[in-house]
Amino acid sequence: MILDATQSELLQRCDRCEEERVLKLADLVLGLDHPQGGQGLDPNIVRLPPCPCGSVEFLNRTWDRYPVPTDEAGNALPLHAAAQAALDHRRRVNAVADRLRELGRISPGNAKRVAAETVRPPDLAALAEEFDQPSTGTSPVVNRNAKEKTQ
Ligand SMILES: [Zn+2]
Repeated sequence: MILDATQSELLQRCDRCEEERVLKLADLVLGLDHPQGGQGLDPNIVRLPPCPCGSVEFLNRTWDRYPVPTDEAGNALPLHAAAQAALDHRRRVNAVADRLRELGRISPGNAKRVAAETVRPPDLAALAEEFDQPSTGTSPVVNRNAKEKTQ
């Protein structure tokens, strides 16, 4: 699970051992290739490096819109906590994938397919402004870790 993400890092909590760790986007790629090369298997997958416990998490970029309930006038209604958490996580995953695309961190087998994309995942729109803020040089991920260590 991705707890937080910046322009250059993400904070992952392992679903198996619940350890948290910071991963650099520069060490990740968008897209999963066949081990023997050739055309990419899936342009939407980000394979995270194995956790020290052995667990491997795959992030999955999504292209459908999360089903947010609306009133009769079409205004979005509040989501219950679990649904909001699912939507937030989906947005973080899509934001990480989008940033990897911007950085050119794409698996060789998926490079053409990803380069040909003309739209972004729809769930990302609401988060885009926040994520596109210029980097201040201080990473919220690192700050968060520092804070936890002093507690
Ligand atoms: Zn683990």
